[in-house]
Amino acid sequence: MPDCVSDESAVASSIAPQPETSNSQQLALSELSPRDKPWDKHRGNADKVAALYAGSEFQRYSNRVEFCSELLKFGLVPDADEGDLKLKLRAARFCRVRHCPVCQWRRSLMWKAKAYKVLPRVVEAYPKHRWLFLTLTQKNVPISELRDTLAAMNRGFQRLVQLKAFPAIGWLRSTEVTRGRDGNGHPHFHCLLLVPSGYFAGKNYLRQSDWVELWRKSMRLDYDPVLDVQAVKKGSQPMELVPELLKYCTKESDLVADREWFLELTRQMHKLRTIATGGILKDYLKELEEEPADLIGDSESGEVDEASLFFGWRRREKKYRMVDR
Ligand SMILES: [Zn+2]
Repeated sequence: MPDCVSDESAVASSIAPQPETSNSQQLALSELSPRDKPWDKHRGNADKVAALYAGSEFQRYSNRVEFCSELLKFGLVPDADEGDLKLKLRAARFCRVRHCPVCQWRRSLMWKAKAYKVLPRVVEAYPKHRWLFLTLTQKNVPISELRDTLAAMNRGFQRLVQLKAFPAIGWLRSTEVTRGRDGNGHPHFHCLLLVPSGYFAGKNYLRQSDWVELWRKSMRLDYDPVLDVQAVKKGSQPMELVPELLKYCTKESDLVADREWFLELTRQMHKLRTIATGGILKDYLKELEEEPADLIGDSESGEVDEASLFFGWRRREKKYRMVDR
């Protein structure tokens, strides 16, 4: 993942951060548009991340995250549901640092949008097939061993999908790393599997204990790993799993909990991909393996804006407020 690449291509050149003023009379973004409330939370955590990077070997990340999305340009567009106007993001300058809370949130939104668009096509092409949601884990490890552990899990997963007993004809896998209470890292895989229609009644059906056995064998572990497998109900759509599948790699509260842990996470995760696809799902979803080129989302680009509104980040107040342009 090109997390060091600066991206300003989608941004109007006229946009530059404004000096912070204490004018709290200006309308807050969260007041005008409640559905844009997450901006304040993510941008607030981005300030924390910038502070954690400051003075470390990642000083350049600190600088980039600090100025990430300081000014947002929204267009006003008709809201089909409400019959009113709504805000649509038109431009922002994103830092693209991997663990920037704003950028990881936008990245996840773009991935989800893509999956919501594409998965119905898979359902249409394989209407009788069924879906499984599989979560694979292993023991927690010191964060300093995360990179080696993820590499071992990758190899284990490759062995798993090559087993004759592996029932899926397609899969999508995302990596999540959480922080255990003891400060250890808890790496795990979330997997969406597409299995043939006869899977549940046939001899290839795998019980939970069978999955544990296969994963243990593939990982060459000397203990039974924790694992969860759930079937999407017949007739239900795999789309309901998308939020869990394509969320952040590490949740924001874990990112900002401990500076040393976070710096080590940054070292360990450097340039690792967090999404992988295989089998027939590769044909549909391979694009998810790459960093989205667009973090704005231009699916409604055909609409004509009624007007543009600008919101600037008020660092001390932890809110975006309108600025005059
Ligand atoms: Zn950013």
